[in-house]
Amino acid sequence: MRALSLLVAGLVLGGCATLGVNRPTVARGGGGVVVGESDDFVVVVPSRTEHPDSLARTYLGDASKGWMIEDFNGGRRVFKAGERVVVPRRPWNVSGVEPTGYQLVPILVYHNLGAQSKGRLVLGADAFAEQMRYLKREGYRVVTLTEFVDWLRLKRQLPRKSVVLTFDDGYQAFRVYAYPVLKKLGFSATLFVYTDYVGAGRNALSWDELKSLAAEGFDVQAHSKTHADLRRASGETDAQYARRMQAELAEPPRLFERQLGRGVQFLAYPYGRVDDAVLARVREHGYAAAFTVRRESNPAFVRPLEINRSQIYSEMTLEQFARNLNLFHQENLR
Ligand SMILES: [Zn+2]
Repeated sequence: MRALSLLVAGLVLGGCATLGVNRPTVARGGGGVVVGESDDFVVVVPSRTEHPDSLARTYLGDASKGWMIEDFNGGRRVFKAGERVVVPRRPWNVSGVEPTGYQLVPILVYHNLGAQSKGRLVLGADAFAEQMRYLKREGYRVVTLTEFVDWLRLKRQLPRKSVVLTFDDGYQAFRVYAYPVLKKLGFSATLFVYTDYVGAGRNALSWDELKSLAAEGFDVQAHSKTHADLRRASGETDAQYARRMQAELAEPPRLFERQLGRGVQFLAYPYGRVDDAVLARVREHGYAAAFTVRRESNPAFVRPLEINRSQIYSEMTLEQFARNLNLFHQENLR
């Protein structure tokens, strides 16, 4: 963190040559005192009640951009009296690569939830809520999968403390246990559903339910048709495999179009399993990104069809959960 702060300080000093130093002005509607500005930065001395989100509202027109101020000023959310705070007006490091290493974004995978935990894959509602509150309290920013993929394409900078939440299979338990917590905390999430399961019994979400979740901003994406391993089975002929893959990869986009009025961009591999032949088919079918369950965070240069996700199991303590939130790979890149 110290190296980063130094880097940030260097950037700020480096930018000073282009900073027009104005006579200090008090911003209208709060924000503190502006002591300098350029096309790229505003330097302010915030009044005592200001925090990154309120400064972002004043200077960037959007409180949700508070992370830009937080990240640019060494990750701090509280400022000292009289301190000069730099407000970057635009992204300054889209790839997240720095002289000391590079940014990583963890993507978490949940499956079923229940009133109590059961087995590895049914996580108790209380443990889930505790994990979400932990993310909020520790200043994590939950970003959408689309924002994450934009980052891979170098079209968007992501907060240093970004995390993505995904829920596999399409369980009714998402609505019962996850939805209220996510709504309350203002977190987004992606549901990966396999289409044979949608509407198949009381534990499954229906298309109508997925439609209303989508209308509220939750993202719904594909997890194949049948949830079978997409790799070629032993004894499967070329023709059989081609037919099976056609069904597994083309059926979800067709059904999404019909039921939700839009196509599919992303795929989560059943069991996270993938090989070169699967990759080729997934590419042919036009999926923009696809997701495994390799327990690692992702750099911006991860291969888009082999993106890592970390599964959260019911037996994990909060500390073990937090170990999945790896945000930076340290390496001397000078
Ligand atoms: Zn699954």
